Amino acid sequence: MGLEKTQAVVIGRRGLGESDRIVTFYTRRFGKVRGVARAARRPRSRFGSALELFTLGELIFFDTGRSDLLRVDHFDIVHPFSRIREDLERFGQASWIVECVGRLTAEMDRHPALYGLLLRSLRAVESTARPARAAICFGVRCVDALGHRLRLDACVGCGRAYPFARPHLDLDGGGLVCGGCEPEAAAGFPVSPEAVAGLERLRALPWEEAVATPLPRVEPELARVLDAQVSRLIGQPTRTPRFLREIRRLYSGGRA
Ligand SMILES: [Zn+2]
Repeated sequence: MGLEKTQAVVIGRRGLGESDRIVTFYTRRFGKVRGVARAARRPRSRFGSALELFTLGELIFFDTGRSDLLRVDHFDIVHPFSRIREDLERFGQASWIVECVGRLTAEMDRHPALYGLLLRSLRAVESTARPARAAICFGVRCVDALGHRLRLDACVGCGRAYPFARPHLDLDGGGLVCGGCEPEAAAGFPVSPEAVAGLERLRALPWEEAVATPLPRVEPELARVLDAQVSRLIGQPTRTPRFLREIRRLYSGGRA
């Protein structure tokens, strides 16, 4: 592939050896890529603070074709999203967003719509008074964009039209199940009719309205439903919710 240039967001990073860094980007042109930034952890690195989590920049990388790790040549900041890193709640919600993108996508599988959604979501998390809502709106659209939309209009077991009493979600079956089919569902859990309505509402509304619309009562349940779905898709629990619970506990004075 040689030398390539694309806009990209830093969605993951870890140290390599003494002074290098492995950085995972989600790029507009190539989807997810991983590369080595040589000497990035040295005090006077030419990358400076550009490789911080969530940073949007212009990435120039070289693909030698000999390794699944690219060589990161330049990453010039377009927008640092620094406000996200200054606030633990914003940081936590944005971490869940980039974790979803990182774990639900394969390398070099381009998806411009998901790239657009990622940027829109980080902008919302940075600027809104309700970062948790922005993450939920991201989650709803992310699973849809990747072809995992849950069926909410009928029971996936028997086809009976919703609404019905005691709705459950069957994540393996891909949608709602009725009380009669629920015992057959392998990965079912109860869901409130308000949460089902909330999910449908957030899907139907344009982005700006979805981020702003008030749904305070069902917000925690929607976050749990989406996280359960993502965890099911990646085959293990996501890492971020535990972190979010921990910071909320710390900031409520340890009362929780
Ligand atoms: Zn049924």
